[in-house]
Amino acid sequence: MRSDRKLSGDRCMCPTCGEYFNRTSVFDRHRIGKLGEKRCLTVTQMDSGGFRKNLHGYWVRKIAASRRPPNWRIGSFGGGSEV
Ligand SMILES: [Zn+2]
Repeated sequence: MRSDRKLSGDRCMCPTCGEYFNRTSVFDRHRIGKLGEKRCLTVTQMDSGGFRKNLHGYWVRKIAASRRPPNWRIGSFGGGSEV
């Protein structure tokens, strides 16, 4: 889903799939495969691979369990419309 979301700091949007990432390092992990044959992880693959969307809808890497707030899971933000 593309939007006119403002990118700031180290945030970026994947030009291929349109997902937003909180850091370019997270985006790099979302792109897999050899140079020239890069492809995107799907949302499902990212979810099972330890990626999570933060409060603002940007993908982040899962934080350590000891620092995890009790409601830290996909779909728990913004009314739970995301799956
Ligand atoms: Zn992508």
